[in-house]
Amino acid sequence: MSKGSINVSVENIFPLIKKFLYSDHEIFLRELISNATDATTKLKHLISIGEAKVEYGNPQIEIKIDKENKTLHIIDQGLGMTAEEVEKYINQIAFSGAEEFLEKYKDSNNETGVIGHFGLGFYSAFMVADKVEIITKSFKDEAAAHWTCDGSPEYTLEAHDKTERGTEIILHISEDEKDFLEDSKISGLLTKYNRFNQIPIKFGTKTETLPLPEGAAEDAKPETKEVDNIINNTNPAWTKKPADLEEDDYKNFYRELYPMQFEEPLFNIHLNVDYPFNLTGILYFPRLSQNMDIQKDKIQLYQNQVFVTDNVEGIVPDFLQMLKGVIDSPDIPLNVSRSYLQADGAVKKISGYITKKVADKLSSLFKKDREDFEQKWNDIKVIIEYGMLSEDKFFDKAKKFALYPTVNDTFFTYEELVEKTKDSQTDKDGNHIILYAANKDAQHSYIEDAKAKGYEVLLLDSPIVSHLMQKLETSSGDAKLQFKRVDADHVDNLIKKDDAIISKLSDEEKEKLKPVIEGAVNNTSYTVQLEAMDSSASPFLITVPEFMRRMKE
Ligand code: ADP
Ligand code: MG
Repeated sequence: MSKGSINVSVENIFPLIKKFLYSDHEIFLRELISNATDATTKLKHLISIGEAKVEYGNPQIEIKIDKENKTLHIIDQGLGMTAEEVEKYINQIAFSGAEEFLEKYKDSNNETGVIGHFGLGFYSAFMVADKVEIITKSFKDEAAAHWTCDGSPEYTLEAHDKTERGTEIILHISEDEKDFLEDSKISGLLTKYNRFNQIPIKFGTKTETLPLPEGAAEDAKPETKEVDNIINNTNPAWTKKPADLEEDDYKNFYRELYPMQFEEPLFNIHLNVDYPFNLTGILYFPRLSQNMDIQKDKIQLYQNQVFVTDNVEGIVPDFLQMLKGVIDSPDIPLNVSRSYLQADGAVKKISGYITKKVADKLSSLFKKDREDFEQKWNDIKVIIEYGMLSEDKFFDKAKKFALYPTVNDTFFTYEELVEKTKDSQTDKDGNHIILYAANKDAQHSYIEDAKAKGYEVLLLDSPIVSHLMQKLETSSGDAKLQFKRVDADHVDNLIKKDDAIISKLSDEEKEKLKPVIEGAVNNTSYTVQLEAMDSSASPFLITVPEFMRRMKE
């Protein structure tokens, strides 16, 4: 047996680990499982290049709770370590890694600012354990090693009689962390962080009911057997090629991801890029529903199939945060604050790529099946309209497929609308007027009036849309193009192409009537118009000039 002292500048790193990461101590399990996963995939690699001449088999990672001894065990069948490697990787590398991480962390001085806390590594075990043991046997032909450390810089290293290849980490869970000895706690953490881990993870056993043999009696009792309880799906849909997936596979994955979400998604977008950064994932446009838990069913960020966070702020553009699904990228720096992340070039590229993919998908759906796209419009419009307002690049693309409904329940794209109205809806100054209503009921008589004259009236009822109109107006490059509310004083100024409007009132009658009504209205912000009432049942119109209206809003 040998004893040693870990060489660190901080006298005792463990109180620091506890203090700085207190709120997030549960991540120790993810870190240790990530190490076990690395050890297994590294072995696979060594075998594939001929450096390890051993059988790979079907390696698992096992998580075991020993309530009596108050220990938690993480056992892998990976490449293992020799005693010399324990000295090097655990006493030196892991420790310096932990120290470096804490230095960084102290400076950021903001617990929630750091994404995921990835990188603390092996020493995060000391967030929950008074004492940690490593029993490890390398794939190389050498005796197993047994390392023990009680949280001070002193450790012991001795030989062990373990014969199977791989590493077992034993955590002696401290009194105030004994939650981590509960099955439900560990099972919850495994589901949260590791349900798509690359290597199968076993946590206890479960009873499986075998199918009844052919021709079995009706009252025959099916046989049962105990099988390993594997908690993860090692091949989630996003890791596969889009060409290998059917529509149903995407839907099933959505259900797997959000078991409590009963609405089917509207459509999905498979992300898959390996240059200039690595990113895979599947995003879904959800159907808006009452029971949707926006706080809970969010986009999840993974790194190599390990869950990091469901706060994707800064990585996914704001307007797409209502989407669902998964993104997985090893290229998103996780040990940094969010403000740093937002300034990071690679992350900006990722966000831009996601925006582009979403726009391309929408565009192809629009081109492929216009009717279907129109049916989905109400569910997707908020996201698209918000995106058009907040991202110019998205605006440019979405302009071609964003839809504007009319009071007649038809839909126009912006281009179609301009084309349809450019000759028929101009006023005497040559302005091109696009009419819209915000409320079908309140503006009923105005709408009827405009319709009777053959004008198109848009029905723009979302709060975002008035801002969007301003953007369309200014970006059109056509100073004469104007959006006007149908109850503004504009409908009657439009030159009707077909013929002149015949008023029911003679000029004389109008002259008499006008001051009477104006006296009754008695408000200078309204205009009384007595023209163009041939078609409507209303004897006259009282309108608010557009500029007055906009001022009030
Ligand atoms: P990192 O995983 O970032 O390298 P860690 O502190 O988590 O840092 O681990 C330090 C090193 O210890 C690893 O790089 C690896 O060499 C070794 N190690 C940790 N856990 C295992 C394991 N289960 N099997 C084999 N080696 C391990
Ligand atoms: Mg690690």
